[in-house]
Amino acid sequence: MKHRDDHSIWVKYAFLGNSWAEDVRIGINSSGEITGCVAQSTANGATVINGVLIPGMTNLHSHAHQRAMAGLTEKNSTTGNREDSFWTWRTMMYHYLERIQPDDLKAIASQLYLEMLKFGYTCVGEFQYLHHDLSGNPYQDRAEMTKQCFQAAVEAGIAFTALPVLYTYGGFGGEPANQGQKRFLNNAEEFIQVVESLEKDIRDVKNASLGIAPHSLRAVDQELLKEVLQHCSEAEIVHIHVAEQLKEIEDCLAWSNQRPVEWLLNHFDINHKWCLIHATHMTAAETADLAKSGAVAGLCPTTEANLGDGFFNAEQYFVEKGSWGIGSDSHISISPFEELRWLEYGQRLQTNRRNVLNTTVKSSTGCHLYQQALIGGAQATARKTGRIKPGYRADFVVIDDMHPRLYGRSKDDLLDSLIFSGNDNTVKDVYVGGIKLIEDGHHQHETNIENNFRSTINRLAG
Ligand SMILES: [Zn+2]
Repeated sequence: MKHRDDHSIWVKYAFLGNSWAEDVRIGINSSGEITGCVAQSTANGATVINGVLIPGMTNLHSHAHQRAMAGLTEKNSTTGNREDSFWTWRTMMYHYLERIQPDDLKAIASQLYLEMLKFGYTCVGEFQYLHHDLSGNPYQDRAEMTKQCFQAAVEAGIAFTALPVLYTYGGFGGEPANQGQKRFLNNAEEFIQVVESLEKDIRDVKNASLGIAPHSLRAVDQELLKEVLQHCSEAEIVHIHVAEQLKEIEDCLAWSNQRPVEWLLNHFDINHKWCLIHATHMTAAETADLAKSGAVAGLCPTTEANLGDGFFNAEQYFVEKGSWGIGSDSHISISPFEELRWLEYGQRLQTNRRNVLNTTVKSSTGCHLYQQALIGGAQATARKTGRIKPGYRADFVVIDDMHPRLYGRSKDDLLDSLIFSGNDNTVKDVYVGGIKLIEDGHHQHETNIENNFRSTINRLAG
């Protein structure tokens, strides 16, 4: 990705990630980093931005291929007896994957990442478990499919965190994988080849980072996880799905006599490098221990609702000062504002109270949620983002405060209205690494990206 020369922008109102500022002049260098941020200053030659500037949000959990089937599983057709669940959804998802070739994945991911940018996500954590071809044989480059996603990110311009997935088994205790999982499977040595191949491509890219992602405790065992963690000890981040479904809790108890989060905390040094995706079903003790560990909980409220997962123990976790961020996971929604709304609404519906997750009196609920999700997203992708401050990446979103939905709102009221009032997209411009990728709601490559996506959908349907 090319970078433009040093430049400055000026904006009347900006949320800096922890406070609001007025008349803000922001310097950006040619590497896409913020070099200066001064409030109460004049434009004085800087490019003037119309709207309200906020830090771009990290989407810490994405399975790009699932974008192509979002909305196609809302029937009871798989069982015919009104017993649809996460597990029947998963079977349909596996069938869908049987057709996706590398070019298809690139086209789907490009469309998805374009949509993410348009809704204000500036970084995506791609948790990619498709590794092999349609027959289950490895591609010549074992990282082929994750690289297709990376190329899609480069085309769209969104920052990219590669999270190649380690998937070896079909269930707890080293159960053999099933036929539907044949494109996912690697042993430790093969997985390390995936990571090494990605390292070469990603190492020097400013808008990219690399972690590893053991899929879940269903897909790895203790020895394997230990071996891979030892080998990848330089990996800055480790993501894992955990405790998403009640059946997973029951199976884990049957296997180990411990619950998934409990087992993980007891057997591995879970710390700030880790991101536990979902962590939906936790006891009060697990919630307190996870919060204390410094790991990020990767919450995906719209997907968790769509799949009938359950409610994350958010109020206690927030009170215990646990880190968390958001992801769009299966992409039934690609709006960070909708994810945050659902997170708070889930708690309101359970407790019959309002503003449940606002554990501070200093800011409003929307502002607090947005700020905390920025911090957790940055931690879970090992990127310096989420603040408008020297040394951080110049990843910004410009909100159209003249839009009737937001008109007359400012500061915390504006963020609250973005999250809790209406659905029109009011994201106007989006910058990643100081480069304006979305201008007045449009991306320079959107026609191409959308046409390629349509062709792919036609091919997959044919
Ligand atoms: Zn997931």
